[in-house]
This record gives sequence, structure tokens and C-alpha cells, in this order.
Amino acid sequence: MRISQYLLATVKETPADAEIISHKLMIRAGLVRKLASGLYNWLPLGLKVLNNIEKIVREEMNKSGAMEVLMPIVQHAELWHESDRWEQMGEELLRFKDRHSRDFCLGPTHEEVITDLVRGEYTSYKQLPAIFYQIQTKFRDERRPRFGVMRAREFIMKDAYSFHINEESLQNTYEQMYQTYYNIFQRLGLNFRSVVADSGSIGGNTSHEFHVLADSGEDEIVFSTKGDYAANIELAVGNLAIKNSSEARKDSEIVNTGSEHSVEAVAGLLNIGVYKIIKTLIVHGEDEEGNISDELIALLLRGDQELNEIKAQKLQGVASPLKFASDELITKKIGCGVGCLGPSNLKLRKIADHSVENLFNFTCGANQPGKHITNMNWSEGCAYDEVADIRKVQENDYSLDGGGILSVKRGIEVGHIFQLGKKYSDALNATVLDSGGKAVTMLMGCYGIGVSRLVAASIEQNHDQKGIVWPENIAPFQLIIVQIDAHKSRQVADLSDSTYEKCIEMGIEVLMDDRDKKTSPGVKFAESELIGIPHRLVISSRSLAEDAVEYTHRQHGEKQKVKTNDLIQFLVKLLSS
Ligand code: ATP
Ligand code: MG
Repeated sequence: MRISQYLLATVKETPADAEIISHKLMIRAGLVRKLASGLYNWLPLGLKVLNNIEKIVREEMNKSGAMEVLMPIVQHAELWHESDRWEQMGEELLRFKDRHSRDFCLGPTHEEVITDLVRGEYTSYKQLPAIFYQIQTKFRDERRPRFGVMRAREFIMKDAYSFHINEESLQNTYEQMYQTYYNIFQRLGLNFRSVVADSGSIGGNTSHEFHVLADSGEDEIVFSTKGDYAANIELAVGNLAIKNSSEARKDSEIVNTGSEHSVEAVAGLLNIGVYKIIKTLIVHGEDEEGNISDELIALLLRGDQELNEIKAQKLQGVASPLKFASDELITKKIGCGVGCLGPSNLKLRKIADHSVENLFNFTCGANQPGKHITNMNWSEGCAYDEVADIRKVQENDYSLDGGGILSVKRGIEVGHIFQLGKKYSDALNATVLDSGGKAVTMLMGCYGIGVSRLVAASIEQNHDQKGIVWPENIAPFQLIIVQIDAHKSRQVADLSDSTYEKCIEMGIEVLMDDRDKKTSPGVKFAESELIGIPHRLVISSRSLAEDAVEYTHRQHGEKQKVKTNDLIQFLVKLLSS
């Protein structure tokens, strides 16, 4: 492409709502333009990158034996009623009516549609296993769309679904998909990690996420410095360092703590370590049908530890999603507000985290306004009903495997694979006949990749002060030819034209900056760096005086003079591999 005829939509200003570098650079380099919250136009340059990523994803999926299909974005409500997700999905599911007043939604995912398709097409176990995938637009009415295409409302996903006659087959395909994902992210040149994950509202048991490591990532992932253990913080487990002490048990005492409420403030006032305080959090219970009840439950944690809400809401009888009791309700039922609560004489179900099990001479709220108890010890009057792991692991906790310690890093989730089991096939009655002629429900797996998110994730890992530094295989163009002052020199114009034509002949993706004198050389250089093209040739009368052109490698910044006679040979060597 010649830039004079191309929409190179670079901008100088960084948009005010762009918080992270990839979002800023995607706007500045002219890859996308915002239409409305969470909705983006892909401009020519951005679309080329998106297509390159799609190509790699498609090649690896095809290699795995998966069959490409394309399902509608618009889905009718009946299917979602069958799986019971029409209500469950909450506000992320954009629902609307057609002209006949029938309910529809925009697909946030396609488990229902593919299960419906497969139940209609497959009849025998002999046809299994089968893997289908598509690369297509999804819509989720995200509560907080942000970071550009990273968390958009409309985005491109590669979603795949597999169908099986038994667990063994599901396990095999799951492992194969794991490997396929590994290959995809490796080919994309990303620094990534796979972690054990929570399966959330999609359902099922085993699940892994793939995260691109980046400080801007919205997720926290935990891994062992020695062993293989790696998990999303939502379900990560670890051991706390035991604080050994020979301190004798003391007698408890009620002390005035006035208006101090936070553990830090109370610790400061009493001159004790925060870890010597018990934090008491009050949440709602849940009845057998899963409805939030007015029963209050106390969760006990060591003062220096944080609650892991995902772990807590999975406990029997605890409201899911977790709901903290209001200060008003707590005061009404317990007699004091948040900040003075403690397990002593507290007539609620009390769930203790492992971190408080071995505490002694601890401090906790006295369940009276402005009062705490110091030197408390577990006893009949101050006890918990059960112990559970409800703590968020922290950096330097001990790993349960291999004796290493845990490291916590931020990640961008770019892929997620699940073993769904029979969740959808049961609900939609998707069966095939087994070898004995008996109808059996198929087992399913599902596998997603955030294709459009990958563009942003790649930029998070591939940029410098000057702009984007695209890895070769997803760059929108391989080479940019910058011609300087072609209006003054016939030779510059001719050589850049002939080189450009030759590159096209050779199948090299080339962009030529043939803009006239209104665009200064400085701007041309800066823009070629901003948009991150891996290789650049500058053709100017100055270098032609030495019978040469100047080559620059975007990533290393190395410059090299290439003799005009050797130029084509040089490009063949550089770009044909
Ligand atoms: P997240 O926790 O980031 O919301 P998710 O668990 O909801 O992700 P999945 O349902 O597993 O995501 O979807 C598969 C993939 O689609 C994700 O791994 C992610 O890369 C991508 N994805 C999900 N939501 C968005 C979004 N709002 N914008 C862009 N990509 C998304
Ligand atoms: Mg989500």
C-alpha cells in the first residue's frame, strides 16, 4: 500500500480515557477508533493485525482436527431457557425482541447453539469425538468496558466446543486443546503462563486459563517458584509461614478502642502486629434453593490476610455471589457495627480461615461499640464452628507442592479451556447411541480465545518509547519504505517505486511512505516507529549519493547501509524466511 492512498490514521494526542499503554497506542497508531462505550471500529492497519492473529489461530485449530463452523450472533431465548441461563446470565446478556415480540439475545458465548446443532446432526458414538470452532463476534454488555478492545462489549472470540462419548475421550481432547493453545500463544511470541482456573458461570470442573504476563493485567495469577503449581488467585491455595512463639497464654482483657475501626488503626493503638488481630466479616447466608437469606454468617481471618470472595461464596450455605451484611443489619442483630466485631460470644455460624486456627493471645472486637478484647484465646466462649480456606494467597506464601514459595503476578486472560461434562448436553438432551444401542448423554468441553484482546495483549508486551514493536508474524506490514524528498530527486522516486513494485511481486507485505513534502521526514520516521513495522528502508538523495539506502530494524534499532545493487538480494534474505 502507498500511504498517500491509505488511511494511516495516526494521532498525536492520547485519548483521555486510555489508561493502559496498549489502548493509547492502538488509538495513536490508528488501529481502532471508538464508536461508543466498548464498541470499536477496526481501521485498515488494525484489521491487518487482527487477521494475522486469526490466521495463526485458525491454522493451529485446523491442525488439531477441529472443524470450522459459523453460528449466528443472534440467538433465540428458547435455547437459553433450556439451559436455564436466560435469567442466570444477568445483565451481560443483551436481550431484545423481534417484530413478533419473540425474545432474542446477542450471543455472549455459544454453548447452547452448538449443543442444539450437534444434537440434531449426530446420532452415534462412532461419530465422536467431534470438535467445532468458529472465529466470530461476541457481545457482552460488560459492567465496565475499559482498556479499549481489551475489555470491550463487542469483541472477536475463537470459541470451540468438543463432544464425547466418555470421560477419557474428553480428557484426551482437553489435553490436545491445551497443547494447541500452547502452540498458538508461542507462535504469537507472547510471554504467557497457563494456570488452573475457576470455571465460573460457564460451569463444569477442570479448567485452565492462559494469561499474558503484563502489569496492566486485570487478573492475578499465582505460581510456585519451584514446582509446577500455577493457579488463578481466585482459587489459589498456599500455606502461611507459621509464626512460632514461646509466649505463654495470657488473660483476656476488654480495652477501649474508641472510634478506631480498621485492623491497622487498632493494631497501632494497641501497639501490636496486625497479624495478632482477628478480622470478623459478616455475610449473608443462602437457603437450599440458592436464594439469599437473612441468616448472617461470620467469616474470621487473620488481620494481615485478605478474604478470597470466590472461595467464600463456594461454601455451603453462604450466599453466592457473596453479599456482605449492611452495617445497619449488623448493628440490629449484634448490637455494634463493623469494626468492633469478634468471635467471642457471637451467636452466628462462624467460619474460621486456617490463618486464625493457631492464633493465641489475639485481639478481636468485643461486639460492643468502641471495645476490643486483647489476649484472647480460643475457648468455649470464643470458638468457631468450622475451618475453611477462605484466604487470598499472598506473595511468599509457601507452595503446597515442591517446597517453593508462591509468586503473584498480573496477567491478561487470553484463553480459557473447560471440561464442561454434561452441564449443557444434559439440559438440552443431547444424546447419541452407544455401542449397545442405548442413548447416552454426550460429554462436552469448551475452549475460548480472545482474538481481539490478543492484539492489545501483544502490544502490552511489544512496545517501547517510540511506539509499537510488532512481532514479525502479526505485523500489519513487514516492510516500510520511506522516501525522502522524492519531489526533488527523480532517482529517489524511481528507486522507491521500483523497490516497492518488486516487493509486491515477491509477496512482501509492504507499505510505502510516498507522502509529499507536506509531511516532513521527521514525521515519517516517527510514524513508521509508532506503527511498529519491523523493517524500514529510507531512500533519500543523501544515501543515494553513496549508492546506498538506509535500513533500520525496528526492534533493535540497528541501522545499516545497503548498496542499491544488493538491495533486492538483501530483502529476499531478510524477508523471505
Ligand atoms: P474475563 O474474566 O476477562 O471477563 P471470561 O472468563 O468472561 O473473561 P470467557 O468466557 O472464558 O471469558 O471467554 C473466552 C475469552 O474471551 C477470554 O479468555 C478473553 O480472552 C476473551 N474475552 C472475554 N470477555 C472479553 C471482553 N469483554 N473483551 C474482549 N475479550 C474478552
Ligand atoms: Mg467475563
